[in-house]
Amino acid sequence: MLIAAILRTKGADVVSVAPDATVASLLTELARHNIGAVVVARQETLIGIVSERDIVRHLQRRGPELLEAPVSDIMTADVVTCTPEDTVEGISEHMTRRRFRHVPVTSEGRLAGIVSIGDLVKSRLRDLEDNRALLEGYIHGR
Ligand code: AMP
Repeated sequence: MLIAAILRTKGADVVSVAPDATVASLLTELARHNIGAVVVARQETLIGIVSERDIVRHLQRRGPELLEAPVSDIMTADVVTCTPEDTVEGISEHMTRRRFRHVPVTSEGRLAGIVSIGDLVKSRLRDLEDNRALLEGYIHGR
């Protein structure tokens, strides 16, 4: 199965923040959209990703003053992306190996969506269930 199939259901919306937005406003975005990571973009160019893990880690080090710091202080700048043509299996393996749960999708250099480990697990489960139903149908001659 391809990442494109997930985006067809989920859509291409990506919540993003500017690098100079404060960590407090980032928290507002995470809560408002009920998500665990946002991409950091400058004029539609992807320059980083920041997840709830980054906030927790830096909050422990810097204390509450972190809330007024810019998002660029805590983002990961070296973002791993994928394309709609990548396979769900390949990207799942990559995420497990690198220990992150979000991958932005780009197409022709532009942001085309974002997938989380939850999206990938859901899609793989559906795929397995479909295959099981097919096999059962085959075995029982349905
Ligand atoms: P997560 O598991 O997505 O909450 O992220 C764990 C750590 O990996 C955080 O430091 C994130 O900034 C970083 N991270 C998350 N997604 C990516 C990605 N696609 N590329 C690079 N780093 C990432």
